[in-house]
Amino acid sequence: MIKRFLRKVFGRSGRVRGPQILPLDKHGIRRSQIHPCALKVTRTLKEAGYAAFVVGGAVRDLLIGREPKDFDVATDATPDEVRNAFRRARIIGRRFRIVHVYCGADAIEVTTFRASGGVPDLDEDRVTDVDGLILRDNVFGSQGEDAARRDFTVNALYYDPEAETIWDWHGGVADAQKKMLRIIGDPETRFREDPVRMLRAARFAAKLDFRIAPETRAPIAGLAPLLERIPAARLFDEMIKLLLSGHAERGVHQLRAEGLHHGILPMLDAILDDPVRQPFLHAALHDTDARVRNEQSASPAFLLACLLWFDLNRSWARLREAGEAAQAALFAAMDETLERQRESLAFPRRFDGTIKEIWGLQPRYEQRSGARPYRLLSHPRFRAGYDFLLIRARGGDAPQELADWWTRFQDAGEAERAAMLQPARAGEGRRRKPRRRARKAAEAGAALD
Ligand code: ATP
Ligand code: MG
Repeated sequence: MIKRFLRKVFGRSGRVRGPQILPLDKHGIRRSQIHPCALKVTRTLKEAGYAAFVVGGAVRDLLIGREPKDFDVATDATPDEVRNAFRRARIIGRRFRIVHVYCGADAIEVTTFRASGGVPDLDEDRVTDVDGLILRDNVFGSQGEDAARRDFTVNALYYDPEAETIWDWHGGVADAQKKMLRIIGDPETRFREDPVRMLRAARFAAKLDFRIAPETRAPIAGLAPLLERIPAARLFDEMIKLLLSGHAERGVHQLRAEGLHHGILPMLDAILDDPVRQPFLHAALHDTDARVRNEQSASPAFLLACLLWFDLNRSWARLREAGEAAQAALFAAMDETLERQRESLAFPRRFDGTIKEIWGLQPRYEQRSGARPYRLLSHPRFRAGYDFLLIRARGGDAPQELADWWTRFQDAGEAERAAMLQPARAGEGRRRKPRRRARKAAEAGAALD
């Protein structure tokens, strides 16, 4: 039993290894690259006699020359001890108690080393091993145990800012240098423990531009169906992380390459295989990536509006053909589309309003006569609707000329705007074109079902 435990925790060799402690010239991360608040937290904890390291994504990102999103600290102090060491600190979370330490407006997340791996047959050992240390779902452990329960070797690096050393338990520094994403321990066991790690593998590979190690990759396709058992809300969160990571285009392809796109992104199944819809999806993902990288806003609602646009068009065309008036058919189609999606991917209803607004505005961009374009300009969602129109144009779903017209109209002076307006009848005539396209797309979509 003990042997099996050790093998699971420390890898196939079964040897209990300590960390490699790598000096500055082996990794190049300097104290000055660490957020001042994280420095203050590690220094204070160490002065109080605890171990404290910068961990996780920040160390990984610095190692490959990227700017970390946030700095997390791991320590052997319990949450209460951490809180007592700082003037402004708060314990948050119930399942996993973590401490937020504040410096001005910044907050650093401090976690206590954990031994929790969620392996049922190990839980028994753990209860007796760490007797007395169990607190709700928290099983505090040593740094080695904390490292072993993390997902990938590059995510299990501990940086000591004072010494400028990295404590590397699983060869993460070498893997980072090889641009290799490798799961810690036995891949199948770790993916069964938490199938979301498969999605994380795809996300990190895309985001870091790493290859997934062959042994890590091998079981994924076979285990993909395990994702069906994951609560929809967690899948949704993970999907949003991937889509708003700034590397959505690559991420979606990585998902597809691993055979992971079926259950989680049902709308992607159809889009990725459809020559009519693919350009639109690419335009949408490309645009989202550019926005995230330029630190512009990129909202989940906007992206969902993109992903479901063709489904909406299909419903809309069907309802119109059944004799409903255009506007009524559009609203009915919106509800139908969102409800149908919810059966497979439970996304929060709070996005519905924005999604519907973006969709509902689309026909209004076709009206280029009289006072209507001016009214549309002052609509609070004008910009989102216009961005959506640009993507449609790039994806071949709206005339480029229409998108260009709006690009010009927005910035034009009064006289130019007046000159750009179209006579009412020409406006009417133009309205039909995109509808024909929508019907064509809907037919193409229906043919795939
Ligand atoms: P990002 O920059 O995308 O936030 P990250 O590495 O910080 O990347 P998080 O999701 O914030 O990723 O998680 C923080 C750390 O917690 C990870 O680096 C990893 O060590 C650990 N972790 C997170 N989720 C899991 C999981 N499902 N299984 C094992 N370890 C995990
Ligand atoms: Mg993080």
